[in-house]
Amino acid sequence: MLLSSIFLTTSANGVQPARHIGSMEPIISTENLKKIYRIGKVDVAALRGVDLSVQEGEFLAVVGPSGCGKSTLLHILGGLTPPTSGKVLVDGNDFSYMKDAERTKFRRHKIGFVFQRYNLLPTLTARDNIAIAQHIQGDGFNPHRFEAVTEMLGIKDKLGHKPYALSGGEQQRVAIARAVVCEPKLLLADEPTGNLDSENSQVVLTMMRTLNRDFRQTILMITHDAEAASVADRIVRMRDGRIIWD
Ligand code: ADP
Repeated sequence: MLLSSIFLTTSANGVQPARHIGSMEPIISTENLKKIYRIGKVDVAALRGVDLSVQEGEFLAVVGPSGCGKSTLLHILGGLTPPTSGKVLVDGNDFSYMKDAERTKFRRHKIGFVFQRYNLLPTLTARDNIAIAQHIQGDGFNPHRFEAVTEMLGIKDKLGHKPYALSGGEQQRVAIARAVVCEPKLLLADEPTGNLDSENSQVVLTMMRTLNRDFRQTILMITHDAEAASVADRIVRMRDGRIIWD
């Protein structure tokens, strides 16, 4: 049986309501954020004091050379790893004051993730890979939202396929659908076009643009690709663990 039929509920809205850019409270706020990894007796300073503020509705690209701290920043913002020092608020919440279960719940409800390697479950169809996100979140299957998201991402005719029968671009579009189907306040994308050829990259980037513009999805995307970054409406450049240009 399909997960979508197991978790079918009658909950309503398909498309997120419009949000205002520039509301008083930023969705992301960091202050002097530092992260030091200790490898044996060696300290690696991945972040050396990052101050960043992102408003709801923004599409922000964080760019910079490999090793400059982009992934570390994304992982901290997603509550996947704690900072060594400094302050980080996501939607007004500080992960450091949350217990593990609370942090997990917060992530499920507020943050969607897209990774370079798609991370789809290989034994499930595209439909169930997306529907399972709604199941895990616990609010049940929302058919309107599912319809709106899969339509926008152009994957409706691929929903019965398992990941191995999809191209890289299609797999990434399924992964994006999974990330946003629960209407997260924030989408964190880690090199979403890193595994794609230029044609598929363009398709995925155009869809992320649409997601931001038409669904008012706040997006923070990290990339080392200047072309990918150009679809965002704000670009932050990092180097050696710091923001050097905004
Ligand atoms: P980017 O995403 O820009 O490539 P990262 O955030 O992955 O940069 O890495 C920043 C620095 O932190 C690099 O020097 C990297 O080697 C180091 N680093 C990242 N993750 C770890 C880790 N888990 N353990 C030790 N060092 C790490």
